[in-house]
Amino acid sequence: MLVRQYFIVLIACSSLVACQSGGDNAAPGTGTAGAATVDTPARSTDSNPANTSTALPGKLSAADSARAPNELGRIPVVEYHLIGDSDSRWGRERGRFRRDLLLLYERGYRPVSISQVLDRKIDLPRGLSPVVFVFDDASPGQFKYIERNGELEIDPGSGVGIWLDFRKSHPDWSNAGVFCMLSGAAAGRSFFGDKGIEGQKSEWRFQKVKFLADNGFELCNHTLWHANLAKYPDAFVQEQIARGVLAIDSAVPGYKVRTFALPLGVWPKNRALAKSGSWTDPKSGKVTRYYFDAVLEVSGGPTRSPHDPKFNPISINRIEVFGDELERTLDRLDKNNSRYVSDGDPRIVARLPGNG
Ligand SMILES: [Zn+2]
Repeated sequence: MLVRQYFIVLIACSSLVACQSGGDNAAPGTGTAGAATVDTPARSTDSNPANTSTALPGKLSAADSARAPNELGRIPVVEYHLIGDSDSRWGRERGRFRRDLLLLYERGYRPVSISQVLDRKIDLPRGLSPVVFVFDDASPGQFKYIERNGELEIDPGSGVGIWLDFRKSHPDWSNAGVFCMLSGAAAGRSFFGDKGIEGQKSEWRFQKVKFLADNGFELCNHTLWHANLAKYPDAFVQEQIARGVLAIDSAVPGYKVRTFALPLGVWPKNRALAKSGSWTDPKSGKVTRYYFDAVLEVSGGPTRSPHDPKFNPISINRIEVFGDELERTLDRLDKNNSRYVSDGDPRIVARLPGNG
């Protein structure tokens, strides 16, 4: 039954607005019973857990159930840097970060990864909206270990600790956060801390990256040490990016990194190198090639839906979370009726007039 209490336009899957895309072996429109389930089970063809949801069913509020579907609406891609003791332009106080999760949850948002956006696998129940969480720079406050009697525990005051704790009381909050990591920067921005900085040991780095991948978070490259890519020649740009990819591969062999975040939001002079390129290690002669499906800008507001013909995965806008920016963004999306809202049916793209 497609009878709705409000006026929406339903677009069936077509070549213009495909409901499924590359890597998905279920052809559009061929689903029968169970085709519109909430969670997509992991398929053997998916090498990265970030491509599928890790959420369990949750409860919808009355406001969630009443929200009109709009799958050509905008998606907030929220961007965090430091998580710690105080709020600043580049930092979120940990209590405030926890409140951000609750704010988004209560306003009907659930996390999805960039991979899920790219693959149009935003499998949320009807009335809910996607939010993409992106953590830049791999600082220790995002993911800390505490060593107790020889055992490693995730620091409950670090970003990952807060996230996992929130998930215990909100089981439909999936582990779809995206970590855009530096692998060799100063001040512990090297896979979440090294050399004892903030109590983090160098030998814990790969274990942290692997934990994220194993638990459904998406790994994203943010270069080796955060150079301003516009200031350097092509060969240097490619080395910075390729060495970030190589480091992730050392931590999680075979992981396909699909997303790249521009350091400082600055494009290299040769913009094509942000998407693909190669670097030859002068010592070993080994060639590393990289190719991304998505490039993240540093700002620009809520990004377009992947169902929107103007969606450009090579320039995904983000929202820097500081002060009240998050609340203001969510208010604007509601006021303008421009928010992506799922219809709960992956075979159909529903939109409100005036969107897309
Ligand atoms: Zn950065």
